[in-house]
Amino acid sequence: MSDSSFDLIVLGAGPGGYVCALRAAQLGFKVALVDKRATLGGTCLNVGCIPSKALLHSTEILSAARDHGKKHGITGNIEVDLEALMKNKDSVVKKLVGGVGQLVKARKIQFFQGLGSFVSSDTVAIEGEEKTEIKGKNIVIATGSKTVELPFLPFDGEKIISSDEGIALKEIPENLVVVGGGAIGLELGTVWQRLGSKVDVVEFLPKIAPNYDEEVSKLAERILKKQGLTFHKSTKVTGSHEGKKGKIVLEAEGSKGKVEFEADKVLVSVGRAPVTEGLKLEAAGVKTDDRGRIEVDDHFSTGVDGVYAIGDVIKGPMLAHKAEEEGVALAENLAGKAGHVNYGVIPAVIYTDPEIASAGITAEQAKEQGLSIKTGKFPLTANGRAMATDATDGVVIVHADAKTDKVLGIQIVARNASELIAAAVTHMEYGGSAEDIARTVHAHPTLSEALKEAAMAVDGRAIHS
Ligand code: FAD
Repeated sequence: MSDSSFDLIVLGAGPGGYVCALRAAQLGFKVALVDKRATLGGTCLNVGCIPSKALLHSTEILSAARDHGKKHGITGNIEVDLEALMKNKDSVVKKLVGGVGQLVKARKIQFFQGLGSFVSSDTVAIEGEEKTEIKGKNIVIATGSKTVELPFLPFDGEKIISSDEGIALKEIPENLVVVGGGAIGLELGTVWQRLGSKVDVVEFLPKIAPNYDEEVSKLAERILKKQGLTFHKSTKVTGSHEGKKGKIVLEAEGSKGKVEFEADKVLVSVGRAPVTEGLKLEAAGVKTDDRGRIEVDDHFSTGVDGVYAIGDVIKGPMLAHKAEEEGVALAENLAGKAGHVNYGVIPAVIYTDPEIASAGITAEQAKEQGLSIKTGKFPLTANGRAMATDATDGVVIVHADAKTDKVLGIQIVARNASELIAAAVTHMEYGGSAEDIARTVHAHPTLSEALKEAAMAVDGRAIHS
């Protein structure tokens, strides 16, 4: 095989692409990885999951000391050095993308920096510092997603910004309006609220965190309100105009008519759209659906021989771990193994405090699907560890099949719910019942006991509530 021909070419080095490349190299493939960014890790490591979590962590420390320190005997003036806080975030990102770079090198994957596009279904052109063409027996499109722009509120990178700028502001805005009450909006809204901004969240739907149980959305709103965020639901943004003293005025229509919000910045987080521009998909004969996503079958095939797609650029939840799983499954399929992703049990998390996590179906989805469920709940107010650690805001909800007791969905609002949901996912992956969780010994005192108690509550036998 010549230096410019590969068993596998991966377009896009995000969690989908780089993980697919690493697994394929592990399985003996000669792999090329292409990304227009100089650093690996895609949206997630560079401007998504990781920097947002670093900022949430720094501001959690701030909030713990400033807002809760007094009763623990911690007093004194606490000041924020935004530059240092951003530097810490940048160094976390640098370490991680560097680590992925080392893994790629160690597995002898050839990295090409530049914009990749199809010349034909087995040839890719790369426009980087030089123009190169490479051939692949298999090509994977893992070009991810970008922030959706509202046509009447175009990004200017200054006053109207996306999360890309929202994770790197140089000054703390006095007023920040977040458009969209989903995961990204709530996380970044929380970061800037903790840093001192007055944050208004404007949401088109009648609830925030719309992909969770109605009850969870309501609880999340109550808790975040208590922390200082203001919510304007059922409110449709319509445009903006210049305000006084360099401010921007966001125009919207709420249930009671027109409303305006004066702000220093407007952060738009209303969703993400697949990235396919520049790929010249037509040269390979690859098709997209009505939402611009690349069409694939159950084995990630685009229908064009040897061309596959994974991650945010295809259907399904836009989550890093979903992209990673698809990357591994595809590499394994190509190697003749039985790669598989269980789409029924993909956890989703909002990393506020408390965190909001779910896996499987919600109560509303059960109703829509005509499923008969029994539900157990356990509030964190009745959990010893939560009491000992200022973490009583939250609840665990377990939905089990009314007849078989099989767990169909779990929602957790709790500190570290992102970690707690892993146990729930494992039970569900093995087709476990509420009884299985109820009979599993959980360490005391831990927040995870709330999961056990919620599972016991499915049959009305929780011990501590
Ligand atoms: P991406 O990570 O988007 O990577 C695609 C890569 O392809 C990019 O590096 C891009 O430069 C490259 N590319 C595109 N076109 C070309 C081309 N033509 N040629 C060469 N390269 C190209 N998900 C979670 O699971 N948990 C979280 O906590 C979380 N937090 C998030 C926070 C924020 C602020 C954002 C924006 C996203 C967050 N996400 C989170 C979503 C997560 O980042 C994505 O689901 C994930 O990155 C998708 O992975 P991917 O590999 O499909 O694509």
